Amino acid sequence: MAYGCSGGGLVAYADANSSNGVHALATPEPVSKKKKVVVLGTGWAGTSFLKKLNSPSYDVQVISPRNYFAFTPLLPSVTCGTVEARSIVEPIRNIVRKKNVDICFWEAECFKIDAENKKVYCRSNQNANMNGKEEFVVEYDYLVIAMGARPNTFNTPGVMEYCNFLKEVEDAQKIRRSVIDNFEKASLPNLSDEERKRILHFVVVGGGPTGVEFAAELHDFVNEDLIKIYPSAKDFVKITLLEAADHILNMFDKRITDFAEEKFRRDGIDVKLGSMVVKVSDKDISTKVRGSGETTSIPYGMVVWSTGIGTHPVIRDFMRQIGQNNRRALATDEWLRVEGFNNVYALGDCATINQRKVMEDISAIFKKADKDNSGTLTVKEFQEVINDICERYPQVELYLKNKKMRNIVDLLKEAKGDVAKESIELNIEEFKTALSEVDSQMKNLPATAQVASQQGTYLANCFNRMEEVENNPEGPLRFRGEGRHRFRPFRYKHLGQFAPLGGEQTAAQLPGDWVSIGHSTQWLWYSVYASKQVSWRTRALVVSDWTRRFIFGRDSSRTA
Ligand code: FAD
Repeated sequence: MAYGCSGGGLVAYADANSSNGVHALATPEPVSKKKKVVVLGTGWAGTSFLKKLNSPSYDVQVISPRNYFAFTPLLPSVTCGTVEARSIVEPIRNIVRKKNVDICFWEAECFKIDAENKKVYCRSNQNANMNGKEEFVVEYDYLVIAMGARPNTFNTPGVMEYCNFLKEVEDAQKIRRSVIDNFEKASLPNLSDEERKRILHFVVVGGGPTGVEFAAELHDFVNEDLIKIYPSAKDFVKITLLEAADHILNMFDKRITDFAEEKFRRDGIDVKLGSMVVKVSDKDISTKVRGSGETTSIPYGMVVWSTGIGTHPVIRDFMRQIGQNNRRALATDEWLRVEGFNNVYALGDCATINQRKVMEDISAIFKKADKDNSGTLTVKEFQEVINDICERYPQVELYLKNKKMRNIVDLLKEAKGDVAKESIELNIEEFKTALSEVDSQMKNLPATAQVASQQGTYLANCFNRMEEVENNPEGPLRFRGEGRHRFRPFRYKHLGQFAPLGGEQTAAQLPGDWVSIGHSTQWLWYSVYASKQVSWRTRALVVSDWTRRFIFGRDSSRTA
């Protein structure tokens, strides 16, 4: 039996004689009748899967280079010491200590997935004194890939070398140290004012929720805490937010975007819209203004790069193997199975549900809906098509809601111009236009913790019922007229999103197009994020950090 593992996990240790450094089993392991489930990753998706899994019929092996779960929505707060790094992490071994499920954890990273042979190749983080045993192979019956994503640099020169990212706990800790470093550096005696200005110029690239929240946190940290202890820095410090699009927070309601831009302007955060970063050097960041093409070079002291996510290299390699080139994430079906594999699942930021199929044969959809073969669809028929599509693809529903199209008549009006409700009929061309508008917007579910954790929970529920449905395969009816499937497909339930804007103000866009902005929403944010903590320990730590910050301010010591 493998050390530290309660079940009979098949773990193959590296052998010095093997051709690729990784070899088959050194000694035969006792054969377990339980199905072997391998989970890659201990982020939102992997952890919510593990938390909900309660069937004793699996041997579960969890592989991740970090032995903890991190509550990423509070990472921006860690960058400025509003909460401490240790308060937002929970050891994965604590989380998986369950009485009735055999789960063991290996702190290692997977570097290759071999789905044909049902194996994953892993390498331990502990490279010292392992005598070539740091690599091993794990076999599986079911594989759950939840490896997340990497920051997207768009291959911009200099970004990897000179920018900070905000993806992991270590990134947030590094940013915190760098901010204080820069204040100390700028206080040294023999610097020119020009140099002080450069060192205290903090540039945030990307006006999405993370970039905006970080800029707001930094503004509060500087104005509420640092200025008091570095009074001479007051005239030199500056925060700039660069956004390539026309607005920041452009996935939010316009009222929130407008409020955030106006608040940042009042706070003195320089928001440069339509500014695309083309190059970063050790002291300057070069931007190109959209439209005019004018380039500007901005001297900086620290840059935080937050422009969305790209593909994990191991996932990219796996996608190449299975013919899913030119995608950002692994395509799965609606049951989260990687296309072409019945026993490989992908969830969270590394996956995307392939929703294009519905649009592949647009004429077939039209014909099916056109019951009287008239060549036109009535409002009612079109409504049925859309209801069907919404049932399969929750993101279409979300899109319609976001566009404030409470019903399909609005969509038809957009496709046909402002026509009175009763008289609307669509021919195939108009039908295509109406659907392609929706289609172009329903690319992916957002890459959020909310999606990842709902997927983890959904999949665990499927696994919990796997044995039961194997004996009774006639599952629920899938969709009207499309037969049955063992499980209902995954359906995302959007619970709303927050955008903290600093100064104890937060914006929230909640289901039903309810928008709320201000101090009271900040209290809603506090209560939601406290309640969402993964354990009572982290909940207590986070709440006590917030209280400490209210009473004493943030800690600005260099060792923090
Ligand atoms: P992750 O949580 O990133 O987990 C990936 C896991 O895979 C990690 O455990 C990692 O160690 C592991 N891994 C990596 N490489 C390997 C490998 N080679 N082998 C094995 N394991 C590996 N979402 C929200 O809904 N609300 C928010 O307010 C919010 N705020 C955010 C703030 C920040 C600063 C960031 C960075 C993200 C935020 N998100 C938010 C997004 C959210 O964090 C992600 O969508 C979510 O973490 C995705 O979950 P995941 O499990 O797919 O990936």
